[in-house]
Amino acid sequence: MPTATPVEDSRTHIIIVGAGIIGVCTAYYITRHPDFSPTTHRITIIESTRPASGASGKAGGLLALWAFPAQLVPLSFKLHEELAEQYNGADEWAYRRLQTVSLEGNLTKTSRVAKKKPADIGLPEDLDWVRPDIMESWSSLSGKDSTAQVHPYKFTMFMLRRAQECGAVSLVLGKVTKLNFNSKGTAVESVVYTPAGSSADSVSSSSTASSDNQTHTLKGDKIVVTVGPWTSRLLPTCPVSGLRAHSITITPSRPVSAYALFTELKVAKGKYISPEIYARKDEIYICGEGDNYVEVPETTDDVEVLKERCEELVKYAGIVSKELQGGRITRRQACYLPVVDVPSTSGPLIGPTNSQNLFVATGHSCWGINNAPGTGKVMAEMLLEGEAKSADISSLDPRRYFVSGPLPGE
Ligand SMILES: Cc1cc2nc3c(=O)[nH]c(=O)nc-3n(C[C@H](O)[C@H](O)[C@H](O)COP(=O)(O)OP(=O)(O)OC[C@H]3O[C@@H](n4cnc5c(N)ncnc54)[C@H](O)[C@@H]3O)c2cc1C
Repeated sequence: MPTATPVEDSRTHIIIVGAGIIGVCTAYYITRHPDFSPTTHRITIIESTRPASGASGKAGGLLALWAFPAQLVPLSFKLHEELAEQYNGADEWAYRRLQTVSLEGNLTKTSRVAKKKPADIGLPEDLDWVRPDIMESWSSLSGKDSTAQVHPYKFTMFMLRRAQECGAVSLVLGKVTKLNFNSKGTAVESVVYTPAGSSADSVSSSSTASSDNQTHTLKGDKIVVTVGPWTSRLLPTCPVSGLRAHSITITPSRPVSAYALFTELKVAKGKYISPEIYARKDEIYICGEGDNYVEVPETTDDVEVLKERCEELVKYAGIVSKELQGGRITRRQACYLPVVDVPSTSGPLIGPTNSQNLFVATGHSCWGINNAPGTGKVMAEMLLEGEAKSADISSLDPRRYFVSGPLPGE
C-alpha cells in the first residue's frame, strides 16, 4: 500500500508557548498584521492544560488608564475599547465602563445598630449595595472615562477563537519541557513538549515535528514564551516568579450598580484586609491580597485553593454588603500573578531575548488583562516587522533584565 509522503510546510512557523491572555492576544494580533498571511505563516500555540486556566481566566478584569507601565497602557486601553466596539464586547465578554472608588471601613463596628443612609459619609447615591454604617471614608479613584472592565476568561476565549478563524493557528495541548538551541547556543530552534493526552488540533505530520513515545519536538522559526508565572521553568535566568492570590465570585441577591471598590477594612484590633470588589454585569468578583510565597506548582491544574482564604473573603464580603451576604457563591479559586523580581522595573518584559528567534512576553503583574491587547500588538510588530511600532517599549526590553541561552552543560 502506498504511504503518504509528508508535505514539507515551508511557511514561517511561529510557536507561542502558553495560552493565557498574553499568548492568545499575541496570536490574534499576528493574524491581523498586514504582513501576515495564512499562506506564508502558521502559528502553533502550545498550552499545558487549558487556555485561560491560570490568572487569565481568574483575574478581576479591571482596565484603567492609570495602570502601569505608562509605555503600554494608553495603547492597550484604546485597543480594548476598539475590540469591544468591533466584536460587541459588551455582550461577548461583558466589557463596560465603570467607576472606581476607594473605601475605608471598620467591620468591628457591626454589633452596633446604626442605620445610616449612604449620604451620611457622602457615598455616591447609586453605590447602594455597600453598608454605609461600617464605612468611615471614601474617595473617587477614577470615573468611566478612565476605567473599564472585561470578563477575562470570556475575553481570552473569544480572542482565541478569532485568532483561529484564519485557519493558520493550531492549539496543541501539551506541556513544553525544554527549549532546544543550536550547537553554538546562540539561537533557539525547537521546543520539546509532552502531549496532554488530547489536543484540540493535533500536530500535522510535517517535517517540523518529530516524536518519541512521550515527547514531541516541534521546530519553529520564532518562539515566543508567554507562560507568565511559569517563565523561569523554561528560562531559569528570567527574573519572573509567581504570587498566589485567592478570589471568589458571588451572584448578588439583586442586580447592583457598576463599581470597582478598593477597600481597606479593619477586621480586628490592628488587623486590616484589603479585598478588591468588582461588580460585573451579572456577578461580583472579590479577590484578596497575595499569599506569602508559595512555589508555583507544575501546572494550573495543581494550584492549591485554600478553603479558609476563600471563606475569609465570603465572610467579610457578607459584612460589607447584604446583597453579597444573601448572594450565591459561584467560584472559590486561586491563581498566580506573574511578578518581575527586579527592583528597577515592575515589568512586563516584552520582546526579543539574547537568543536569536526567542522572544518573551511575561511578568505582567496585576495589569496583564489591561495590557494584553497592547502586548499582542507590539509582539506582532516585533515578530513580523522586526520592531515595535505602536508604542515605545524599549524600557521593557527583556535583554535589559536577563541573559537567555542554553544552561551550562546543555
Ligand atoms: C487575583 C488576580 C487578580 C487580577 N486582576 C487583574 C485585573 O483586574 N486587571 C488586570 O489587568 N490584571 C489582573 N491580574 C493580572 C493578570 O491576571 C495577569 O497579569 C495575566 O493574566 C497574565 O497572563 P499570562 O498570559 O502572562 O499568564 P497566565 O494567565 O498565567 O497564562 C500562562 C499560561 O501558560 C501555560 N503554561 C505554563 N507553563 C507552560 C508550559 N511549560 N508549556 C505550555 N504551557 C504552559 C499555563 O497553563 C497558562 O495557561 C490579576 C491577577 C490575579 C492573580
